Amino acid sequence: MRTIYDLSFKDMEEMLLANGQKAYRAKQLYSWLYKKRVSSFDEMTDLPTALIEKLREDYSLMPLREVRRQVARDLTTKYLFEMQDGSSVEAVLMHFHFGDSLCVSSQVGCNMGCTFCASGLLKKQRDLTAGEMTAQVLYVQKLLDEDGKRVDNIVVMGTGEPFDNYENVMRFCATVNSDHGLAIGARHITISTCGIVPKIDEFAKGRYQYNLAVSLHAPDDELRASLMPVDKAYPLDQLMASLVAYSVENHRRLTFEYILLHDVNDTDEHARKLADLIRGMNAYVNLIPYNQVDENGYKSTDERRALRFYDVLMKNGVKATLRSRHGEDIDAACGQLRAKHERNKGEQ
Ligand code: SAH
Repeated sequence: MRTIYDLSFKDMEEMLLANGQKAYRAKQLYSWLYKKRVSSFDEMTDLPTALIEKLREDYSLMPLREVRRQVARDLTTKYLFEMQDGSSVEAVLMHFHFGDSLCVSSQVGCNMGCTFCASGLLKKQRDLTAGEMTAQVLYVQKLLDEDGKRVDNIVVMGTGEPFDNYENVMRFCATVNSDHGLAIGARHITISTCGIVPKIDEFAKGRYQYNLAVSLHAPDDELRASLMPVDKAYPLDQLMASLVAYSVENHRRLTFEYILLHDVNDTDEHARKLADLIRGMNAYVNLIPYNQVDENGYKSTDERRALRFYDVLMKNGVKATLRSRHGEDIDAACGQLRAKHERNKGEQ
């Protein structure tokens, strides 16, 4: 059964009108779902009984349940959720000085095949629906409610390629952003893509206020294609042209994500080439310490070299941030916990 969280505010109004109801009921419904955060239709006491009946017939509420949780020493928390069809996805809650950020998954598995990433260990089984993404946020928000806290930021950086599931991801963003719902500001929502150029162009045309982050990880096509197969379809000249257009037309600053992999992409030469590629753009580089994945042999760059890489970028006119490690003592890398869980299921 479809979850009611699949419906954007506009969808909700349309659904109500189609059922002979007044459009204003959408506000009431959204408020029950996302502000009061009820767990059943019966709690929606100001709705007509007939409407409640109809909702109960057509829609489910929470489409996922928590099956595992790992809490790191720094309190980074990883949740493993199981969907109604038995497939599983992860979400990670991280605590920063600027607030709590939730990293959500957009697909079950991933087909992008990045060589360093644990998510790609399991091929894509299916896209997540908008409601299955919304439910990840709502589930964690309900837990935070107990401490009077909120999900301040959302990053679509969990398992999956959001621009390979574009419409559902955009509907999800609209739902969590809606003032009638969770009201998470657009500038507090970040979508991370591996660089699917036609979708970046579409995103640019949509004039969205969400933040865009792009996984770069290499300053030239030869190295990038060896790490990220998507580079063969959309090489750097196309990618950068599309991003410059987006950033200029939308007056938005871009984030480039760059994982530092020991002896692979972390030399001074790489840093200089990276600076040449980005200098002049309205962008900065987020240097990410690599979470080691047992399966693929890459090593994380040590802190001294990471700082040096950062310095070379800055000296060459490119702004950068060096992200601190999060959740190192749990399976925090995208897809790690799920990969283990699926393996264990297979062995049972
Ligand atoms: N497909 C999207 C979003 C999911 S990956 C994308 O490629 O951007 C989110 C980010 O986590 C990407 O920058 C990805 O390269 C990075 N990542 C993947 N595996 C990682 C690991 N083991 N350690 C650190 N970052 C990782």
